[in-house]
Amino acid sequence: MSSCAANFSSIRQAIDDCAKDVSRDPAEVRLLAVSKNADISAIRELYDHGVRDFGENRAAVLQEKAANLPDDINWHFIGTLQSNKIRRILQSANVIHSVDSLDLIKKLDRIAGEEGKTPEFYLEISVSGETSKGGFSLEEADLAVAVAGECRYAKLAGLMTMAPLAASHEYLVEIFSGLRAIAKKHSISGLSMGMSGDFKEAISCGSTIVRVGTAIFGK
Ligand SMILES: *Cc1c(COP(=O)(O)O)cnc(C)c1O
Repeated sequence: MSSCAANFSSIRQAIDDCAKDVSRDPAEVRLLAVSKNADISAIRELYDHGVRDFGENRAAVLQEKAANLPDDINWHFIGTLQSNKIRRILQSANVIHSVDSLDLIKKLDRIAGEEGKTPEFYLEISVSGETSKGGFSLEEADLAVAVAGECRYAKLAGLMTMAPLAASHEYLVEIFSGLRAIAKKHSISGLSMGMSGDFKEAISCGSTIVRVGTAIFGK
């Protein structure tokens, strides 16, 4: 069985190769290690390997892991955002990938101000139209970007999407290019898209940060 560090290196290599294949600079594509199903020792192994960006999807688990790991980890929150957990999440996370309502944008900015934090955030857009899983619809995206632009403390880093599970190659390209088109329209450069099963399509469509869990840590 291979170690998380070895898995991380091979995913990083695959990302670099994929970026070069589409004439992109590999340095433009960050790799977020999604540690939501990993224990402290696995995260520590990657930390010792030089990895600093980790993603968690539960406020309590994030807090627990952050308390038990070095302070220079850059924690990303990727889970469903609940307004009553924002304050707690901001204690540890610098980046939030899953802001999916106008109310959450405003609350995030207000609480960031109160806590003296300047988090970065991504607006989650449901390009596929599966809004039951969260995310702004395509129709709501323009207004969401406008409201995000009014934030004083939280900073819009880009747009995020999740493709439906088991989507075909063609459909993945359609979803990811759809997100890129919205970003381009608003001159937004950050694109959080691509996971273990679809990061190659995401990179070919302009992803700037892929969120990879199982391909690094296993199931
Ligand atoms: C779990 C999760 C990931 C990682 O998914 P894998 O398929 O394990 O790589 C990425 N993004 C979000 C929002 C997740 O919840």
